Amino acid sequence: MVSLTRQMIEIRSILNKISNKMSESISLPAIVVIGSQSSGKSSVLESIVGKDFLPKGDNMVTRRPIELTLINTKENIDEEDHQLNEKKKRTKIFTGGDIDDDYLVDFPQLREYNISSFSKVKSLLVDLNLQVSTKEFISEEPIQLVIKSSKVPDLQLIDLPGYIQIESVDQPAELKHKIRSLCDKYLQKPNIILAISSADVDLANSTALKAARQMDQKGERTLGVITKLDLVSPGQAAQMLLNKKYPLKMGYVGVVNNNKKTTEKGYFEKNKLFFKNCQFSNRKLRKKLITILEMTMSKELKPTFIKLQQELDNTSYRFKVEFNDRQLTPRTYLLSQIDVLKLAVKELQDLFSRSELKSILRQELDQEVLNILAANYWNDLENENVTNLVGNTSDEKALSYWHKNLELSTSSLTKLGIGRMTTSIITNSILSELNNILYVLQPNSFKQQGFLFTLVNDIAIQVLNKNFYSTADQVENCIKPFKYEVEIEQRDWDDSKQNSVLLLKEELKQVEENKFLLKNLLTGNGGSKQLQQLLQFIKQRVALANGKVLEMNKLEYDGGFSKILLEKGKKYIDLEKREQLLKFRIKFINGKQCRDAKSMDKCPEIYLKAINEKLISTAVLFLNIELLSDFFYNFPIELDSKISELSIDDIEMFAKQDNKISKHIELQKRKDLLELALNKMNNLLLYEKISKKQNKNL
Ligand code: GDP
Repeated sequence: MVSLTRQMIEIRSILNKISNKMSESISLPAIVVIGSQSSGKSSVLESIVGKDFLPKGDNMVTRRPIELTLINTKENIDEEDHQLNEKKKRTKIFTGGDIDDDYLVDFPQLREYNISSFSKVKSLLVDLNLQVSTKEFISEEPIQLVIKSSKVPDLQLIDLPGYIQIESVDQPAELKHKIRSLCDKYLQKPNIILAISSADVDLANSTALKAARQMDQKGERTLGVITKLDLVSPGQAAQMLLNKKYPLKMGYVGVVNNNKKTTEKGYFEKNKLFFKNCQFSNRKLRKKLITILEMTMSKELKPTFIKLQQELDNTSYRFKVEFNDRQLTPRTYLLSQIDVLKLAVKELQDLFSRSELKSILRQELDQEVLNILAANYWNDLENENVTNLVGNTSDEKALSYWHKNLELSTSSLTKLGIGRMTTSIITNSILSELNNILYVLQPNSFKQQGFLFTLVNDIAIQVLNKNFYSTADQVENCIKPFKYEVEIEQRDWDDSKQNSVLLLKEELKQVEENKFLLKNLLTGNGGSKQLQQLLQFIKQRVALANGKVLEMNKLEYDGGFSKILLEKGKKYIDLEKREQLLKFRIKFINGKQCRDAKSMDKCPEIYLKAINEKLISTAVLFLNIELLSDFFYNFPIELDSKISELSIDDIEMFAKQDNKISKHIELQKRKDLLELALNKMNNLLLYEKISKKQNKNL
């Protein structure tokens, strides 16, 4: 049977998970250790633990209480473990003296667990103490320390700061107040007080006994410990232990902590006769502490049970009123959110239908067609000399101009790297749609910077990347024939004719808009008259330059316009020309001259647009099979697998980003933990009842 203390420690740690305040309000008894500096307090604690673990030295003053939980691990060690431990013990010499594998230490507040190096334990204790500034002197916030070993008993000890004893006259009032409140907090019922006094100091002056008496006037909860018996005569020592001068119900235990001169065992054997009716030795002290704590715990069972029950009732009521008893854990919440995400991604699949894919690609590739047209034709056509060629169909020079340019343009278009280009357009488009979905989802962690945002994006990128290059290659391979020859049927030509007119009209609209904006900008400064003057000035200068009348001073003359204004004016004129040109081309390709594919040389807009459509259709075919089907199939699978790898902490962090969910989860957790604690306590009470009955029957 696991000791009662151990079970209560477990219950306490369950309550601790709710909040430290919770375990304070439902107080399970602990042993509070007090003693003035150098009284031998550290030696006593270390003897109970069996290990040198407290930082020492003149500068080291404890500023915070240490809540020391000892857990006996003996029952848990089976034969195999035992052999392992023995082996480890043998190799200990090589691992360094401060490491003991039979001791594992936890600092729950620091999330540091299973430390086996005691120099690390000491340094963490120093760090935690130094968190309290010298200005504050002491803090009520305890350091939690759990030591698990087969060599320690199940005990809960609280080591109070050494300051508590130095209540001297020159201390500031504020410190006195702090010490008082710390004492009030820890030395009250149902805690047991372990008051440590040194034998070489008169008990009347023992600060530990004084402090104990203030909180436990009848001496019912105080156990006295007298250290350093070896420093006084055995007779004197025995007198102190006999509990006559300052009686305590639980009496005094005398100890001699190992020092250079004598061992405890040697000392008591030598002076056996003196200590006949006394309680002595560290062993005795340990045993006594275990029994006292068990008894006190047992007494506290019922009242604690009632308090817990009340707490649970309150919590359950709140849970019903506020959350309608709806069960929610961080994981179920996360999974429900992931379901929403998956559903939205599934809907996204419909959005990426073939026709939608085409229109996404068209947006970008049409722009490429316009760029090629501008580079290979329009810039030329703006030049008046070439414009003259347009009507002149029989002119050989003209024919060759149109033919060569069309070949050049077709090759530019088909050699753009359509494979990579289209694959990356669609990849980016999926990612940006995914971001839109994430943005609409509720918890912030789905959004920028939230860890799920990054996680989901990374998964999407990973799934898409897997097929990126093979898809790009496939597309590129399949458009290869178009690099050599393209056959265009009359129906395709007619469609393309209409579409290219629309495309040019769209472009014309853009040019007109830009022109309009620029005009507003230019007339804003000085009215339309000044604009006319500016344009005229620029046109004249261009004419001068074109006509090669290079009168340098005239070309450099700025007509009183600023450089920026001149640049803007030039741009305006360019737009004007482009506008005229587009109007002309729209009329031209709409007309009889572009009736069929035979006239493709002179109607490059229609021809290129027709090729563009073929490229797009081919690309879409493969993008759909190679990239999209695979993405929509594998993304949810990858998502599930990555989600299942998330740590509990990550999931909780995610859920708690939403305030309402966080409250819901907290309350549910509180309720669950209270139920668990209460359940354990109920079992303990039942067990107590049965064993009492059995004892009676015996
Ligand atoms: P603390 O300041 O109350 O924690 O006291 P320590 O345990 O650090 O002990 C203070 C000093 O007293 C140390 O030098 C110990 O070695 C010494 N000491 C502790 N117990 C005994 C004892 O039983 N006999 C003797 N002779 N010295 C002791």
